[in-house]
Amino acid sequence: MNSSDRQGQIKWIGGPVIIADGIPDIQVGEMVEVGNENIIGEVIRISGGEFTVQAYEVTSGVSPGEVVTGTRKQLVAELGPGLLDNTLDGIGRPLETIRQLKGPFVTRGVRINALSREKRWEFKPSIKIGDRVKGGDVLGAVQETPAITHKILLPPKDTGKILSIKQGEYTVDETIGQLETPNGTINLKLMQEWPIRTPRPFKSGERVPLEEQLVTGQRVIDTFFPITKGGTASIPGGFGTGKTVLLHSLAKWSDCDITVYVGCGERGNEIAEVLSDFSKLIDPKNGRPLTERTVIIANTSNMPVAAREASINLGATMAEYYRDQGYHAAIMADSTSRWAEALREISGVLEEMPAEAGYPAYLPDRIAEFYERAAMVSVLGDPPRTGSVSIIGAVSPPGGDLNEPVTIYTLRNTGVFWSLDRDLAYSRHFPAINWLRSYSLYVDRLLSTWNQRFEKYEREEGQDKTAPIRRGTEAVESFEDLRKRALGLLGQYTEIEAIAKIMGERALPDEQRLVLFSADLIKESFLRQFAFDETDSYCDTRKQIAILQMLIEFHERAKLLVREGVPVEKIRSIPQITLMQRAKFEKNSGEIDRISNQTNDELTKLAREHQVSA
Ligand code: ADP
Repeated sequence: MNSSDRQGQIKWIGGPVIIADGIPDIQVGEMVEVGNENIIGEVIRISGGEFTVQAYEVTSGVSPGEVVTGTRKQLVAELGPGLLDNTLDGIGRPLETIRQLKGPFVTRGVRINALSREKRWEFKPSIKIGDRVKGGDVLGAVQETPAITHKILLPPKDTGKILSIKQGEYTVDETIGQLETPNGTINLKLMQEWPIRTPRPFKSGERVPLEEQLVTGQRVIDTFFPITKGGTASIPGGFGTGKTVLLHSLAKWSDCDITVYVGCGERGNEIAEVLSDFSKLIDPKNGRPLTERTVIIANTSNMPVAAREASINLGATMAEYYRDQGYHAAIMADSTSRWAEALREISGVLEEMPAEAGYPAYLPDRIAEFYERAAMVSVLGDPPRTGSVSIIGAVSPPGGDLNEPVTIYTLRNTGVFWSLDRDLAYSRHFPAINWLRSYSLYVDRLLSTWNQRFEKYEREEGQDKTAPIRRGTEAVESFEDLRKRALGLLGQYTEIEAIAKIMGERALPDEQRLVLFSADLIKESFLRQFAFDETDSYCDTRKQIAILQMLIEFHERAKLLVREGVPVEKIRSIPQITLMQRAKFEKNSGEIDRISNQTNDELTKLAREHQVSA
């Protein structure tokens, strides 16, 4: 059948939605080319002899009567070397190449592959002629960027015997070998394709329990609201609450191998800003540009809303592909609200029955399907390996109202909620993560690892302890205990602060004033973290424990003194307070232990002066 057999005609156009007829065997999900400019679209509904297309490019100027051509292909992601250090639009076209070819504005009807067909990659095989291979097996590798070795995988559904395999420099679509399969011989290539709406398979039933922390180096996250590798988190937050800075910090510091950043439907200039900011980030692990282990997908302002949905799925597919190589990948989607708004807009044009706030009834399913693509899995093929996809989705609820459908369904499907707080951001407390409203469902399963870290820390710290044993205080038993005490203090702070607002702080009993003081110290010295400070931007887990331990010990000790009659003012004015506030800027955790010991000595002195036993 030649292509003219698969040509239909446009009947109606409404924004990004087109109704056409004339292709009897058209399929839902099939890509089509629309109108004289061959705009790219996807069939989303078939009814009677007509089919509905959502266009991924602007449809202005296209008229009824123009031709629609079926391609028999689904919207696929190209997967292979060259994804990293690349910026793609919502349907996977490299923005830089489009710009070079067409200038900054005209992109309609442009067909450009995500992966360059010119660039040659040095391929080193790890299998040999005669080997039997199956889907997911590693065939060899290319060095994609200095940071990442790209494993070349046999596509999931293929299986057979290697007839030939080459070594040397190849482009992604040249033949690197041949495979004898039950259905004939196929050529092996460095790239493969995968339909973006279908999650890539892994070993059946082998979702690995989520027990490994994605360490982010952000204290409030790692200690209080942690996320696992393969886990999901949502960040609702209005404009100016520090979402972008937080996502950048996570991309830069978290211990994942690959970041897929999806800039979804933001205004054009915002995206340009994100891109230029991102390109300046340096990977602290190797001093090289962070983009070398990042894929960026950005919807430009001249793409219609339908591309937002494609971009989310494209990002998920690419992250899964790196997972399948045995990497830990993290998707950062900013913002999923814009994607949901696109669903609403298209649903409106289709005249579907609206549900809550005008969103289509399938909104909850779509959100759930997206977050379900996060997992830690045993991947297909040999050698055996695990990989993960974590998903962090920013949500921008209109007017900061968390009681709206996108936020509600996102919270239902994510394990962590980092609630960004406008008031904290106004008072320049960053990251503006509200410690009362945020939560992590992964805390319990991560506590044992944290407790082990804590024991190790205690052992090490104990060896060179120079200060006298702290007297009278109940020793912190474990990390769990430490964390509980810190959260307890912060909780008490909120209650006491409410009273202080009415009565004035001076009217409170000293013990309560101490709670206010100690909790403030935790806010300042632990929760607040400066993304732009060379030392403070990342805090390893040992240092997190050291700081929190120092602050909690101070509070416990001071509490005893206050109970025995030492005025809280005396405690507040010991010189070590400033040292504690600045401890986070110390490069060496040993220094923090020293400050802690000094503080303890000073409190002992205070006890002697007041002739109390604590
Ligand atoms: P949003 O993306 O939510 O609109 P941004 O991430 O751009 O907000 O943050 C707004 C401003 O807040 C930044 O320009 C920066 O000055 C400040 N900021 C945010 N997070 C931090 C941080 N962790 N450390 C220091 N400053 C921060």
